[in-house]
Amino acid sequence: MRKMCVFCGHRPVDKNKEHVIPQWLIRETGRTKSPIIDSPDKKIGFMAFTMPACTACNERYSKFESAAQLVMQKVLGGVSVNATEINTLLDWFDKVRVGLWLAGAYLNPEKYDFQPKISIDTRVGKLDRALIVEKIDMPATDKGILIEGLDSPIFVYSPSVFQMLINNYSFTSASCENLVSNKLGFPIITDVTLVSGGRTSGKLQAGREKVTHPVIKDFAPSDNQIILYQPIFSQFKNNPVCKTKYVQKYSLDYDAGVGGIFYQRGANSPVVYMSGDDKIRLNPRPYPDDDQELDKIHKRMYNLQISVNNMPMRFCTGDAVVDAQLAFLRKCKSDVVADYVKNKFNGR
Ligand SMILES: [Zn+2]
Repeated sequence: MRKMCVFCGHRPVDKNKEHVIPQWLIRETGRTKSPIIDSPDKKIGFMAFTMPACTACNERYSKFESAAQLVMQKVLGGVSVNATEINTLLDWFDKVRVGLWLAGAYLNPEKYDFQPKISIDTRVGKLDRALIVEKIDMPATDKGILIEGLDSPIFVYSPSVFQMLINNYSFTSASCENLVSNKLGFPIITDVTLVSGGRTSGKLQAGREKVTHPVIKDFAPSDNQIILYQPIFSQFKNNPVCKTKYVQKYSLDYDAGVGGIFYQRGANSPVVYMSGDDKIRLNPRPYPDDDQELDKIHKRMYNLQISVNNMPMRFCTGDAVVDAQLAFLRKCKSDVVADYVKNKFNGR
């Protein structure tokens, strides 16, 4: 992989370093539970885990990091947050997820046998997203950061779902096209066609203008989760299908194509839209502090990786054989991950 700035994707100008896991967060957690990379031939601690970046790009993002830090401090401290703050939190998880993916490609060129075409700039806040918040009932002194999901065969090819445990909170961050738009009643893209250079294009379809369950296909929320959902339509905001009262009413920034924040507490609660003055505390009912529960938290994240990978992207290359092959490849990756998870947890 050639040297690229983690933010803009170009050769770094006036080279600088970006901490993939920000220093403020490492300080916030007091210590880290484990080195971020701990393999026989490579050991990297959290503080030394950096990626190349332009000085200007780094500065461009430093204000954003300060804003994200304030929101995260509120969340971890049990203080309620509004929709704009949650939007910042979701942007931050996009940034970390893509940063970790790029770092993976940079450090393991043998595993990531391709040149990444995305960067933090091209991916933060650009596609639908969700954040699952869970809590573990453990002593306040037991602090740290634990990251799960980066080694799975699905994540290597698409940085869509990962999990980060911060102190006694677990955050599962997910993002892809059409992740939540369909069920939240927003316009969606269908009939994805492969065009030159591996790029895709598709047809836009008007939304159903109502919320239906489950919001994420094949993903059943558990009672101990708070889930945040946000549709993003910035890529096609000027299309007539977006010019509806529904889309306007349920958007956080309609002109920018940023949908509103919706949340759901547990399995049987309704999906609620957060309007201007609404605030919520992200305080899910905690799970007991034991290894079995931790395994379950991780496994749910892997299941979500598989669900997202299996999402009905209707390929439409005009060639039925190619379409069937593409669908088959996605299915294979899901099977490989199911095996990977089985091995990882030793059948637990
Ligand atoms: Zn740059």
